[in-house]
Amino acid sequence: MSNDWNLETKAVQSGYDPKNGESRITPIVQSTTFKYDTAEEVGKLFDLEADGFFYTRLANPTTDVLEKKIAAMDGGVAALALASGQAASLTSVLNICQTGQNIIAVSTIYGGTYALFDNTLKKMGIEVRFVDPEASEAELSKVCDDNTRAIFGETLANPFLNILDFEKFSKIAKKYQIPLIVDNTFATPILCRPLEHGADIVTYSSTKYLDGHATSVGGLIVDGGKFDWNNGKFPELTEPDSAYHGLVYTKHFGPAAYVAKARVQLLRDMGNCLSPFNAFLTNIGVETLPLRMQRHSENALKVAEYLRDHEAVAWVNYPGLADHQDNVLATRYLSAGCSGVLSFGLKGGAEAGKKFIDSVKLATLVVHVADVRTGVLHPASMTHRQLSDQQLVEAGAPPELIRFSVGLENINDIIADLEQALAKLNY
Ligand SMILES: *Cc1c(COP(=O)(O)O)cnc(C)c1O
Repeated sequence: MSNDWNLETKAVQSGYDPKNGESRITPIVQSTTFKYDTAEEVGKLFDLEADGFFYTRLANPTTDVLEKKIAAMDGGVAALALASGQAASLTSVLNICQTGQNIIAVSTIYGGTYALFDNTLKKMGIEVRFVDPEASEAELSKVCDDNTRAIFGETLANPFLNILDFEKFSKIAKKYQIPLIVDNTFATPILCRPLEHGADIVTYSSTKYLDGHATSVGGLIVDGGKFDWNNGKFPELTEPDSAYHGLVYTKHFGPAAYVAKARVQLLRDMGNCLSPFNAFLTNIGVETLPLRMQRHSENALKVAEYLRDHEAVAWVNYPGLADHQDNVLATRYLSAGCSGVLSFGLKGGAEAGKKFIDSVKLATLVVHVADVRTGVLHPASMTHRQLSDQQLVEAGAPPELIRFSVGLENINDIIADLEQALAKLNY
């Protein structure tokens, strides 16, 4: 296996190198445990003095393949798979932040992450300071202090679709000697590799495009391996851990210290591991990721252009459109495509939204985005139905908003479906 391979080759081949006579396909090692000959060997594994699998909560050969592949595709040194995207976000922060400390997060991050940060982390004594994606460097500097331990943002925000200004946020992170953690779920390593733009840690909900077929909930954390933890702010990585006989993560694991600690400490303690079967399915999904992301992006751009020119449609939000507010950032960071999700507003408001949803035939109504099938959601009558019109606007999901996840069907069929559904509306 080579680190010089292009992305398409890594997607297919990285992580698994079968020996003579072994299975060509990554096997599903559906086993909780692994056999050893002597107590001494097992002791060494437990003390982290030897490498090897011993219990699937910590590491598993099938999961290991997926981790190595995603690390290679992102240009990182190591990765950790977890039970979900939520587990990845939580672990990425808890690994370097504790009670009394704080992190900065872009306010437009995914709603599930926002809730985790604003409720659960708060109860744990970690303050999350939300900042506007448009905040100036001076404003961002004002929000950071000596207790700030990370900055968290999303490459392509779900569902706002604004694009992270990597240059601005990585500059602040460097100034305060804290890592920039970037959730790259919607872009995937195919459309953007955050480590190349100043991020230090990358997270994923692999539930979305990495799996891509809506079969498996999962998450990943990728360690860029370049952040210098030895600046006095991260004693949990640079000072002895009594749980491992005084082991110092940065000394023992070198550039992969961050993700190694997340595994042998937090994953060990909290137990939110990915199942080998889900790792197997996700790994197969990733094999076709380069092709899929290209087609998702092409189809979504065509849908966005079609909707922009349709009389029933008030507005379209897709960063690949030249007049989008973040099109300059899209050109800089997502030059290969802007992924498959877009949103639009119908002139007929909430009523039209509901009617549209009931009229589409090929597009299916799902509370999910980012898989091979075109999916559609009307937050005002579904996920956000308890909110008033005013609250809907504040939540970034005005009553007329339709979220559209463009799949891999033939573009003519997708547009024909939109056409017949839009024709049923009064505008
Ligand atoms: C879905 C999603 C998550 C949460 O992932 P789960 O796998 O559902 O736990 C986190 N971040 C983003 C950007 C997402 O779209």
